[in-house]
Amino acid sequence: MTLDPRTPDTARNASPGTDGGGSPAPAPAPAPAGTGSSEPSPAGSALPGAPPHGGRLVDRLVPADQRDEMLRWAAGLRRVVVDAQAAADLELIAVGAYSPLTGFMDRDDYESVLESLTLDSGLTWTLPVTLNVDPEEARQVREGETVALAAPDGTLLALLDVEDRFRINKGREAAKVYGTQDPGHPGVHALYRRGGAALGGPVRLLQRPPSVHRSRILDPAAVRAEIQRRGWRTVVGFQTRNPLHRAHEYLQKCALELYDGLLLHPLVGPTKDDDVPAGVRIDTYDAVLAGYYPGERVVLSLFPAAMRYAGPREAVFHAICRQNYGCTHFIVGRSHAGVGDFYGPYDAWRLFEQLPRGGRGLAVEPLFFEDAFYCRACGGMATARTCPHPENLRVSLSGTEVRRMLAAGRPLPPEFTRPEVGTILLEHARAAAARGGWGGPPAPAG
Ligand SMILES: [Zn+2]
Repeated sequence: MTLDPRTPDTARNASPGTDGGGSPAPAPAPAPAGTGSSEPSPAGSALPGAPPHGGRLVDRLVPADQRDEMLRWAAGLRRVVVDAQAAADLELIAVGAYSPLTGFMDRDDYESVLESLTLDSGLTWTLPVTLNVDPEEARQVREGETVALAAPDGTLLALLDVEDRFRINKGREAAKVYGTQDPGHPGVHALYRRGGAALGGPVRLLQRPPSVHRSRILDPAAVRAEIQRRGWRTVVGFQTRNPLHRAHEYLQKCALELYDGLLLHPLVGPTKDDDVPAGVRIDTYDAVLAGYYPGERVVLSLFPAAMRYAGPREAVFHAICRQNYGCTHFIVGRSHAGVGDFYGPYDAWRLFEQLPRGGRGLAVEPLFFEDAFYCRACGGMATARTCPHPENLRVSLSGTEVRRMLAAGRPLPPEFTRPEVGTILLEHARAAAARGGWGGPPAPAG
């Protein structure tokens, strides 16, 4: 069987109400894929929640009834094996979490993001989303060729219509994106391990990367459906890669006093090895939600992105993604998406303040919060903005202190962590110690 490489592109227009303007009519066969997100569609503005970035929610999922045929076709194509970060990006592109991206960046978008914090179109965008390959592999691929993207285990994930190939100057990317070339920075370290060239072009997702958390992951369209079902006009997004402590709960509840709903959206893609494993964190989220939150006002969904630890640039990226899930507001704590002392505590806030709002900028409104703590004199949770008391009256533990207490089998104080969460973390620490390793300190908000 032979198929025109462009024929499967009709799949793009088969999903109503999203990318492609919702027309069920077959697209003209030669229409190039990936150009469909340049103009806002009426469907985009009719979606509940904030408008998608760029005006339209991208949909690059191959419909189920076309999957088998396309998988057979893809089996005969050149195969490019992608790393865990690219596999995570693939899924998020396909479901519209990275709208308006319809694929991996070409050189123009990549350069523009590095230099100007925008896509080539002028839309605000802060992190490169590239498919890195070895330069030798890039040389073998032709521009105009459709290649099959596969997971390391051989699973076919997606098709990529290659429109561009370019070299990556990793040192320059590190300096621009991470503000450092230090390989001790986990994001820089990951970048240095990736291929030195990139293939750019639109993608079509055939199968999602495997995830043990699949049933807990809602796509942007599904989150927006929940927003609509619950009648929320305002939705606050909360990103974290850590267990939920009372400080995080306090910030979320401050926001819930003002806005209709909360999207608790923990990142569960690849993280550094000493972050608490996703499964343990999910148990803490379930426990704290069941015990302390009004269920109708919270949606818990997992965000399967890889963590870059890019500080300010990643904070903005996190906000853009949550806008695509429908959030109208996004909580940005101190040192958001930071690591070690590579960024100042307020660097992310400053970047948000420099970027344009509305138009080509963000529609989602950042909510800046100081670190919270329990104050014995106040008799409750507070921040430096609301509590006048000295440090010694505040219950606040560093990640290192938490780790030490858990390693010693000592329960965390209830002023710091709900007992249900403390118990889960203690059990994790015990199990990890029995295995000879520990899954890392629950660090501040992320
Ligand atoms: Zn106080």
